[in-house]
Amino acid sequence: FNIPQISTGDMLRENVREKTKLGNEAKAYMDSGKLVPDEIILNMIKNRLNERDCKNGYVLDGFPRTIPQAQGLDLLLLNLKQKIDHVIIMKIDDSLIIERLSNRRSCKNCNKIYNLIYNPPLIKNKCNDCHGSLYLRDDDKPNTIQKRLNVYHEQTEPLIDYYSKQNINQEINAQGSIEEIKNTMLNSITK
Ligand code: AMP
Repeated sequence: FNIPQISTGDMLRENVREKTKLGNEAKAYMDSGKLVPDEIILNMIKNRLNERDCKNGYVLDGFPRTIPQAQGLDLLLLNLKQKIDHVIIMKIDDSLIIERLSNRRSCKNCNKIYNLIYNPPLIKNKCNDCHGSLYLRDDDKPNTIQKRLNVYHEQTEPLIDYYSKQNINQEINAQGSIEEIKNTMLNSITK
């Protein structure tokens, strides 16, 4: 669609890598699987949505994660005279999430994501595109994954109700292959 994908997780990891003030504040929350405080996230998103490349739309990935974030986003959008067209809820069992995340590997250099079972690199631990080293995110270690799932069920799942009241959410089955899920998602937003 030629619009940016805005991932709050990627933005935070970039800040942690660069050791910015924001990154230093966020790191302890991220490493322990907790959510970074709403105020920090909303401020970061506000700055990002005001950038030029967001004029024609964007995909928000990993945001909002709490009701106050969703309310803050509604306010930001009101000021920007924009609205949310689709909210996609990816339905998947916790056991499959644990399997996917513990086998996820990310490239240190270009951030490309692999999965050791479903989408392994051609050469062990090397990125196919840039030959950077692949690593396991600290928060993709088994104990932290379970904590993140608990946080999801407690703080993020209530958003399903929040957006169903606005009648803009679409639930899709996220248990298939990458290709199948991509097609289901495209069908659900283009129909
Ligand atoms: P993600 O890459 O989306 O899984 O995010 C990784 C971690 O970054 C999360 O476990 C949180 O600690 C933090 N994070 C990312 N997005 C948000 C958000 N919208 N609100 C609070 N914390 C976030």
